[in-house]
Amino acid sequence: MDGETTHVNSAILSASDAESIRRAGRIITSGGLVAFPTETVYGLGCDAMNADAAAKVFEAKQRPQFDPLIVHIADLKQLEMVIGSLPSLAQRLMDVFWPGPLTLVLPKQPAIPDLITAGLSTVAVRMPNHPVAQTLLREAGTPIAAPSANPFGYVSPTTAQHVADGLGSTANLILDGGPCPVGVESTILSLAGSQAELLRPGSITIEQLSAVIGAIRRAPAVQQQPLAPGQLSRHYATRTPLILLPSAETRPFLNDDEHAGLLIHSRPRDSDNQFSAVEVLSSTGDLRESARHLFAALRRLDSLDLDRIYAEPCREEGLGAAIMDRLRRCATP
Ligand code: AMP
Ligand code: MG
Repeated sequence: MDGETTHVNSAILSASDAESIRRAGRIITSGGLVAFPTETVYGLGCDAMNADAAAKVFEAKQRPQFDPLIVHIADLKQLEMVIGSLPSLAQRLMDVFWPGPLTLVLPKQPAIPDLITAGLSTVAVRMPNHPVAQTLLREAGTPIAAPSANPFGYVSPTTAQHVADGLGSTANLILDGGPCPVGVESTILSLAGSQAELLRPGSITIEQLSAVIGAIRRAPAVQQQPLAPGQLSRHYATRTPLILLPSAETRPFLNDDEHAGLLIHSRPRDSDNQFSAVEVLSSTGDLRESARHLFAALRRLDSLDLDRIYAEPCREEGLGAAIMDRLRRCATP
């Protein structure tokens, strides 16, 4: 490994400098870790063909080894390095949604280390559409395995600073590409079984997917022994207890000495000044805007030493399904 990967603290470099991305590519090929922006959240990436590098990712995140990583690819040549076969349904989805925030679970290529797939015969793969991620993949010349760049179980990072706050010095480099445009993790669809199965809702909705390939089964929402650990009942969680309100109209009764935060998807009302802090995800009820702001708002509330965070539910259509999925897991004790 070259000298530049021995920094004690993770350097944050602007991704608008082409040399930063080249340097990040060299770190990946020499077995190091790079945090980088994608359209969904920031990832902590390593060479997907290198088991030792993958082990560093698990260690950095304190991620249990039963939780497989998503492999990111730049093009179809890299896809061939990763998957064993391409079902026709996958081809149709790729044509419509790649590059983009859709992860497909497919039969794996034997060369992918078992650690990356948690010993499964399948691999989760996605072609991101963020220009920095795409350039990094091409510079590295290898598929990049990357989970979200945060300690396991905590709220995912949507800025370079979130990555630095959570992972300290464990990445060899953090590429700063600004805030992530989507803000919630990719939709995960398994095509490994006899029927397509939604493993995690994301910004590409089940309705959009069904329009292309027909019937899709929904994986049971919450499991203790998940096939896909994106299905863990508690995940994406703040340290401050979060309570999901029963409806957007409901407000809790606060005790005199209770310091509470409020997270809402609409304009606050006058009585909301009883809260110590209010985060408005979108004043117009735009769910895309809510998704984009969700994790940063949760982190801000979580930094205030509040007793509780109350969150308003949103409509479960479109991106609302993904937002509610994350809020429910955050609210699970
Ligand atoms: P993260 O990158 O942290 O958003 O998490 C990636 C998620 O992808 C995991 O938690 C799993 O839910 C899912 N995943 C990755 N590989 C597989 C696989 N082979 N089969 C099913 N789910 C997978
Ligand atoms: Mg994650």
